[in-house]
Amino acid sequence: MKQTQKKILVTGGGGFLGSHLCERLLKEGNDVICLDNFFTGSRSNVLHLLDNPFFEMMRHDITFPLYVEVDEIYNLACPASPVHYQFNPVKTIKTNVHGAINMLGLAKRIRAKIFQASTSEVYGDPAVHPQPETYWGHVNPIGIRSCYDEGKRCAETLFFDYYRQHSLRIKVGRIFNTYGPNMNPDDGRVVSNFIVQALNNRPITIYGDGSQTRSFCYVDDLIEGILRFMASGDDFTGPVNLGNPTEFTILELARQIIDLAGSGSSIVFEPLPEDDPRQRRPDIRLAKERLNWEPRVGLGEGLRRTIEYFENLLR
Ligand code: NAD
Ligand code: UDP
Ligand code: UDP
Repeated sequence: MKQTQKKILVTGGGGFLGSHLCERLLKEGNDVICLDNFFTGSRSNVLHLLDNPFFEMMRHDITFPLYVEVDEIYNLACPASPVHYQFNPVKTIKTNVHGAINMLGLAKRIRAKIFQASTSEVYGDPAVHPQPETYWGHVNPIGIRSCYDEGKRCAETLFFDYYRQHSLRIKVGRIFNTYGPNMNPDDGRVVSNFIVQALNNRPITIYGDGSQTRSFCYVDDLIEGILRFMASGDDFTGPVNLGNPTEFTILELARQIIDLAGSGSSIVFEPLPEDDPRQRRPDIRLAKERLNWEPRVGLGEGLRRTIEYFENLLR
């Protein structure tokens, strides 16, 4: 039998980012346990991995305790799209807080290194632009996005308390908007919504006037950043921003997708959801300096690959 390098647990492994991460970890010769409750993720994202003897799929909800023996944990379990995390907000908080406590308790017992998929949402509707890790954020604690934003902030607190109190090896990555193949077509996030609408020649739904900005990172770049971060020295806990610093308005994104998909879609404007951040762009100097990492795939190329994925999926 081939010697595997490490035994690794990926929570949320059936989701968009988790499925790409499992694939990369297997390619690098690791033994992977992919855990998911299939709330937003799906077995089809990892179907091509199920035959691999070093891949194990486990149906489990991280709000319940978990007893496994691994060397590393990547904690990605949590719905990421506003539509899904607002569907059952109490459950979202439980996943972020109880889930983090369980995964940290597990990491503590087995002395595993643990990565937390945190988010740019910890900055809320930012008053500082672009956002460096030193910025504490501008977050509404009682709004409709709070279950996610405050849940993720509390998870960061828990990670740093376990680090200080129990000397856990932690890695907190603040992920900015990431897109690519394996996004759920019904996810409700902007890139998947616009591509599916464009491919079906249905109107593109812009919320607000489309002048709000986001910075979109292609999934392969993000996964590379996460892996470099996990491999970095134990003294580098983060938080570290992982994202693409090139910023676009949502209107620019819509036009580019219509263009690349060769679509006849029109654009319609719908009400802006409550607390929708005006702007978002990572300051990635820390990741560049400590991980020698920066994104390589531009928006045009990344969108082309994502459009191709959705074309095959919808066919
Ligand atoms: P996703 O919804 O595709 O994946 C999340 C996965 O977690 C799904 O497979 C879902 O079924 C699973 N899950 C949810 N609750 C669970 C629970 N209680 N127990 C077990 N599994 C559970 O989203 P994604 O984009 O792949 O995001 C993955 C992680 O990265 C999330 O933690 C998200 O907050 C974070 N993140 C993503 C982005 C992004 O732009 N994609 C940005 C910032 C942070
Ligand atoms: N836990 C787990 N798997 C383990 C160890 C702990 O799921 O292998 C859970 C356990 O349910 C506990 C949580 O992690 O509630 C926090 O564990 P910790 O040891 O930090 O706290 P304590 O058990 O002392 O409350
Ligand atoms: N958005 C939009 N139309 C859509 C979906 C989203 O205009 O069909 C907007 C949304 O209001 C936000 C931006 O696109 O301003 C990014 O939304 P997403 O849900 O993808 O991510 P987040 O707001 O969490 O960054």
